[in-house]
Amino acid sequence: MNNNTHRQDASEELLASSTVDDMRLQLNLEQRRAHDAERLAAAACAISASLDLDVALDKVAEQAAHLLYLESAAVFLFDEGITSFHSWSRPNQATSLRGLEALLEQSEALSLVRERGEPVIIDDVLSSAILPVTLRERIGIRSLALLPLVSARGVIGCIVAPKFKLYHWTVDDVRLGLALVAQSATAIENALLFDILQQHNRRIEVLNALAQLLNTLPDPNQHLDLILRRITEVMELDAGMILLLDPDGGGLKLIAHFGLPGEVSFELSAFPLRSLHEIACLVVASGESLMFNGVQHDGHIRDEPLCDVGFCDLMAVPLAASNTILGVLLVGSHRPRGLTDEDLALFTTIGQQLGLTLKNAQLLRSASEMEALREADRLKSRFIAAVSHDLRSPLTAIRASVEGLLDWGGGSSIREHEHLLHNIAGQASRLGALVDQLLDLSRIEAGALPLDRDWAELPVLIGDTITKFEVLNSKCLVERDLAADLPLHYVDPDRFVQVLWNLLENASKYSLSYAPIKIEAKWTGTEVVIGVADRGPGIPLGEREKIFQHFYRLDRDRRTHTKGSGLGLAICRGIVEAHGGRIWVEDRPGGGSIFRIALPLPPPDPTGPEASKEHELVYCEH
Ligand code: ADP
Repeated sequence: MNNNTHRQDASEELLASSTVDDMRLQLNLEQRRAHDAERLAAAACAISASLDLDVALDKVAEQAAHLLYLESAAVFLFDEGITSFHSWSRPNQATSLRGLEALLEQSEALSLVRERGEPVIIDDVLSSAILPVTLRERIGIRSLALLPLVSARGVIGCIVAPKFKLYHWTVDDVRLGLALVAQSATAIENALLFDILQQHNRRIEVLNALAQLLNTLPDPNQHLDLILRRITEVMELDAGMILLLDPDGGGLKLIAHFGLPGEVSFELSAFPLRSLHEIACLVVASGESLMFNGVQHDGHIRDEPLCDVGFCDLMAVPLAASNTILGVLLVGSHRPRGLTDEDLALFTTIGQQLGLTLKNAQLLRSASEMEALREADRLKSRFIAAVSHDLRSPLTAIRASVEGLLDWGGGSSIREHEHLLHNIAGQASRLGALVDQLLDLSRIEAGALPLDRDWAELPVLIGDTITKFEVLNSKCLVERDLAADLPLHYVDPDRFVQVLWNLLENASKYSLSYAPIKIEAKWTGTEVVIGVADRGPGIPLGEREKIFQHFYRLDRDRRTHTKGSGLGLAICRGIVEAHGGRIWVEDRPGGGSIFRIALPLPPPDPTGPEASKEHELVYCEH
């Protein structure tokens, strides 16, 4: 039989025979075919049992060996230039197919199968012109059948059926083999499709997981370490780096890294990160993603620089948003991972996703910076307008009094003279108080209000303040209700009195009647709460927070020209908060307002052992 010609179906000759012997032969043949059909059905079952491509290929090789009575068999899969090879041998088999892949890959026989999609049947390798004789010399193969795996996409591979002795392939062998390849091609195609589907699913899962993470982070720039860790995890890699371009043209900067050997220097221009930096620069320059599969067939890592950082495989992709490259995302694995084009495509999408998020965060930041600048500008203008107005009124009054004095002729009395001088003194001290308030306010806003704190008895401080206040405001009566269990408190006494004074002044200033003001103080177990209550008009609900803003005054007081700057309560809040406390206003039952201050005790030992002992005593009491 000519090795390269395809066999003619001989069964018709057998059917034509009419002798008894021929009939018997025919019967045997029928039985054998029935038996073969059963075996084929079992093989088809085994082959299509798994959707895992590797398992399916192993099964195809195994079933081919069983069906064609071979010691071993193999499957070649052609996949866009790359061929994969799976072989199976019966257990305890002396023969081996090692080296078969390389020998066949170059052979004309394999090209024929691939191009024509027809089987190649060779009874004797030694007399074949399309197979290398080394098949016999190196592997011991004497006879060979190559059966094409044909699917709707074309020839996807072939089954290699070797015999280690001279063999005459029969028509039934070939028929059985072709039936098997038809079943196998379908099973392999299904497994390939399933593999693609799984990859696709994984890709969607990875992108979803990342999108979810990026959406939940308020500012992704603050969490690049976490993002990088998550990306390397979902990509099943070991290590990564995020390098961002310095907006001032300073090149790439290492912003986050994960899984790099602890002892490496993180200087980009130095060994060993230098090589990774060079790769990242290439990505920035070209705007293209790069992939390195560093392991050779012999298991050695091909790329020395990668080896230095402990990377076998590596991908580097641009962090890109529209036409801008913000930096480079680089991931790698310490073990050979065999990165694929799909991995690179997925990773490139991740780079775009992260780049876009970083760009959006950048835009948001500059937008809010702009808004903050605008707001600061608005506040500054309001502040200057308010300050100029408040400074001008005492100055105007002083100037008027001074001009009055200068014009003083003999006609004016000494009393008038004194009145003008008192006026100047009063306005000057108002001016001085205003400047002091402005200074306090600027210190509070800068977070630099100095506090000279010491342990103090609050009832004593409160009592002294009330006494002084009543002396200066003779028409005012201040009631007091101070709990007996008030602890020593760690406050700046002058500042504490300043707050109290301001609240007392307001209580008297804004109350038309001379109903007594009341100061109460109680200890809650964690803080001292002091209330200053008046019988004035009260504060409308919507204004109760606003009156603590600087220069804020209620309309009714602006209209009635009640003296005031709108700074007092803002300063009170600044002082109380510097003590770690709170200040607010409530309605007073029966009419009026109560301004309350809550001052928590500081944590133990604020000023050394002496004070801490004293402090402990205070705590023991309660
Ligand atoms: P000033 O009293 O100098 O105007 P404040 O900051 O002390 O500034 O007070 C802010 C505003 O809150 C006052 O202008 C006034 O309208 C209102 N206010 C403050 N205390 C009282 C009070 N006890 N009763 C009613 N209104 C008050």
